[in-house]
Amino acid sequence: MSIMGSRAERAAQNHGNEASGLGIMERAAGKVLDLVFPQNIYCLCCGDTMEKSRIHGICDKCAEKINWLDHDPFRASLEDFAFDHVLSCCVYGFYPRRIMHDLKLHGKPYIARSIGPLMAEKVLAEKALTGGGGYTALLPVPCTAVKRRKRGYNQAELLAKYAAKQLRLPVWTDVLIKQKETPSMRLSTGEERRNLMQGVFSVDQNTCAKLRGADILLVDDVLTTGSTADACARTLKDAGARTVSVLCFASSARAFEPEWERETITE
Ligand SMILES: [Zn+2]
Repeated sequence: MSIMGSRAERAAQNHGNEASGLGIMERAAGKVLDLVFPQNIYCLCCGDTMEKSRIHGICDKCAEKINWLDHDPFRASLEDFAFDHVLSCCVYGFYPRRIMHDLKLHGKPYIARSIGPLMAEKVLAEKALTGGGGYTALLPVPCTAVKRRKRGYNQAELLAKYAAKQLRLPVWTDVLIKQKETPSMRLSTGEERRNLMQGVFSVDQNTCAKLRGADILLVDDVLTTGSTADACARTLKDAGARTVSVLCFASSARAFEPEWERETITE
C-alpha cells in the first residue's frame, strides 16, 4: 500500500472509530475523504494499488477469492418470503464481509461508489440473460432516524443511488419508513422472526400511492436471514406494489447452510 493510501486508510479508520454520535462532523469528514481517497485506486479488500483498468475497486487477487453468484441464492425457499426474487453479487464470505463492515460500521461511505455500480451490473446482466428486469424504481431499505443521525448516512441508500445512476432509474426514499430498530433475532425460527418484524416498517401515507402496480427493486447491502427484506416486501405489497425483487451486494447461501446463516445474523 502506498503512503497516501495508508494515510487515507488511517484517517478513515479513526473517523470510523468515532462514528457514533458525530453527525455533522462525520458527514463533513466523509466528504473530505471522498476527495482525498479517490475511487478505484486502492483495492477495497487488501488496500493494494490496483491496475487502472479495474473499475470496481476490487483487485484481481481478491476478486478471485470472492464467491460470485450466478443464481438466486434464495431460489429454493422463495415461497417462505414476500419478495419475488433475489439478485446478489456474491456470497457473504470473508472479503465481502470486510467490505460491508467498512461501509456500514467503519464510516467509509465512499465504498458505495464502487459497489453500487457493481450491483447495477448484476441487474443489467439479468436483463441481458432473461429479458426481465423492467423495474419502476430502486427503493433502499430504510434505517431509523436515530441510526441515520448516528451514522450520518444510510448505506443501502448510497448503494441504491450509485446503482440507479447506471440503471437510469429513480430512487424512492420517501415511501418506506423504519419505525423502530430490528429486534435481535439470533437463533429465532422463520416464523418467530416474522412476528418480531411486525410493525418495524410502514409506508408514508402521503407518498405511497406511487407504489400501486410498481415493480420495486429493494436495495440492501447484505441479505442473511431475509427477514428484513421480507418485512419490507410485505409492507410494500400491502400498499400496492406489484412485485418486489431484492438487490444486494452479498447474501448468505441460505438454501444450503441454514445452521451457519442462523449463527451469523448481522442485520
Ligand atoms: Zn485486493
